[in-house]
Amino acid sequence: MGSLAPVPAIHAILEKALAGARLSPADALALITSQDWTSIVAAGHQRRLAMHDPGAVSYTAYRVINYTNFCDVDCSFCSFKDEIESDRGYTLDLDQIAAKTEEALALGVDHIFLQGGVNPKLPLSYYVDALRMLSGKYGVHVRGFSPIELLRLARKENLPLPELLAILKEAGLASVPGAGAEILTDRMRQILSPKKLSGADWCHVMGECHKLGLPGSSNIVFGSVETPEDVIEHLGLIRDQQDRTGGFLAFIPWVFQPQTKKFTVRHVVGWEYLRLIAVSRLFLDNIPNIEVSVLGMGKDLGELALYAGANDINSIVIEENVLRSSGLKTLGAAKKFIREAGFIPRRRTLGYEFGKYAEAETESALP
Ligand code: SF4
Repeated sequence: MGSLAPVPAIHAILEKALAGARLSPADALALITSQDWTSIVAAGHQRRLAMHDPGAVSYTAYRVINYTNFCDVDCSFCSFKDEIESDRGYTLDLDQIAAKTEEALALGVDHIFLQGGVNPKLPLSYYVDALRMLSGKYGVHVRGFSPIELLRLARKENLPLPELLAILKEAGLASVPGAGAEILTDRMRQILSPKKLSGADWCHVMGECHKLGLPGSSNIVFGSVETPEDVIEHLGLIRDQQDRTGGFLAFIPWVFQPQTKKFTVRHVVGWEYLRLIAVSRLFLDNIPNIEVSVLGMGKDLGELALYAGANDINSIVIEENVLRSSGLKTLGAAKKFIREAGFIPRRRTLGYEFGKYAEAETESALP
């Protein structure tokens, strides 16, 4: 990883960003290929301090319910899915989804994240019934469905995408994840997931969600054979989409986890992750929140990322079948982590609302 731009040029780019000017893709490429990572990280943190309460870091808690693992998309990095006709796969029925929701509520967690494989056998009524139950009977915020799940369901039901989204929203869908983006360049789609939707289609689906009042997050998953150019093109696609439709509340960098033999991951050096957090903060000037994945990156790097541009930890996840790692398992652990890193914890909703949880309630909700 060479330093393509001399240090004075890097400093000029950082000054430009700190003055509030928009960075070009060439600026961002110079940053992402520079080994002067301490300057970049310092600027990322400075920008974050100017945009958010300097003394606070936010967090949330949600339960992931992987409602089915049948999938016919065949991403090269995925060990979660089972073939459609396999006798090993599963689809949860409403009672099973209800039981998992009740477990979450008993722990003080009132946000549910529905994520599946792409199961062509499930009818629209399955999704509508689940959403009605979750939002009506249980009153939880439901985030759900990656763009490929939404696009394939619309095609299967022969519905225009906006019509499908309106039906799901009416049934209780409140927001959408940035799942399935990985890296959006055509070159990387061919390597990672040639049967998934293209980067342009991913952006289109997210834009339609935003227009219908379904906000969400965006992310990048790196640490395979992507180039710096792939990373910056990906960030540019996200920023351009945000300019068009708003709706991305946050951006979250993740690294690939080793899951399958046919997909090789590389070791992402700690400072490389921190540099990407900072470049995301500086380049994505229209996305307010940068989240650090303590679940994926571990606590030590997570603490440092809070001094590199991140203002939120992405956070307590109860049951995550796609990614197995040691994250923060309770609300108490999340608050302790943030305090030990030097900040005041602020619990938020998935929609980045802060009024819902009184601190006293947060203190007593989980051990
Ligand atoms: S990552 Fe998602 S879409 Fe890709 S194979 Fe796995 S479950 Fe299917």
